Amino acid sequence: MNLNVQDFVTKLQKEFDKYQSECFPVRSPEFFCLELNGEAGELANFEKKSWRGRKINHQYFADEAADVLIALMNYSNSRKINLAEAVDRKLQKIEKRRLKMEEKKKK
Ligand SMILES: [Mg+2]
Repeated sequence: MNLNVQDFVTKLQKEFDKYQSECFPVRSPEFFCLELNGEAGELANFEKKSWRGRKINHQYFADEAADVLIALMNYSNSRKINLAEAVDRKLQKIEKRRLKMEEKKKK
């Protein structure tokens, strides 16, 4: 991952940690994990409705996507996950696998 993106994610995660600890009660990782999945479910519900042909205001998707990001930040902080490092490590694995599959296709 691009170093600037890593720096941005690190700063963002720290800002959320500061905001959460200054303004809200302490919650467990389990609480935030359930919250994250609840928010992802709300987003999925709007997508399901959209897929079935209902007109959904774009702001609803944006609001739920924001809730997912906020919940992910809070979960990662409560679980002491360095998200920038975790994403970087994961992207390296994905890229390695992708290149391997590309090589297989050439043979
Ligand atoms: Mg929501």
